[in-house]
Amino acid sequence: MKVKFTDIPDDGLTVSFSKDTAWLGDLQDQWSEQGAAVVLSRPVQTEVRVRKSGRHVILSGRVVTSLALVCSRCLTEFEYNVDLTFEQGLSPREEENSVDEMELTRDDLEFDFYDGEEIDVGRVVRENILLSVPIKPICVEPCRGLCPRCGVDLNKEICQCQTARKESKFGVLASLKEKLERPKSDT
Ligand SMILES: [Zn+2]
Ligand SMILES: [Zn+2]
Repeated sequence: MKVKFTDIPDDGLTVSFSKDTAWLGDLQDQWSEQGAAVVLSRPVQTEVRVRKSGRHVILSGRVVTSLALVCSRCLTEFEYNVDLTFEQGLSPREEENSVDEMELTRDDLEFDFYDGEEIDVGRVVRENILLSVPIKPICVEPCRGLCPRCGVDLNKEICQCQTARKESKFGVLASLKEKLERPKSDT
């Protein structure tokens, strides 16, 4: 989804589009190499407002989709709903090293560049989806994860190691209680 700079009217324009689950494409592969596999599980719905400010372009949009992620604790695949808003400024590539651009980056907008006359709205949307992925995705809070000793999914069953640990915890509590109560009985 691309917009030509010269096609943006002074009062801006709105781009809405929907993309199917194959859309993340090569970006998705790049991301997967860094760790988490990111797979769209629902088509992407997006609406982006495109405005000009001199030679700069400001994109503000909303993206709704969902991803199939793998929980970092229990390794189960789960659906992660994405509903995000973003605002991103784009400057012409030829200004990459200019002072003018430096002043603009002081704004707390995310800043990037566009090449030639072409504003790649789709790329910005895809990047924002990928940026929304948590480093350690968690299926539900609190996910109990897998038992570090026997590997059982503790959300589904309780293993023997877990019971043993619990008992020892209660053991500590019991002896603590005893200690606390002892001075009382002395007086
Ligand atoms: Zn989990
Ligand atoms: Zn266990």
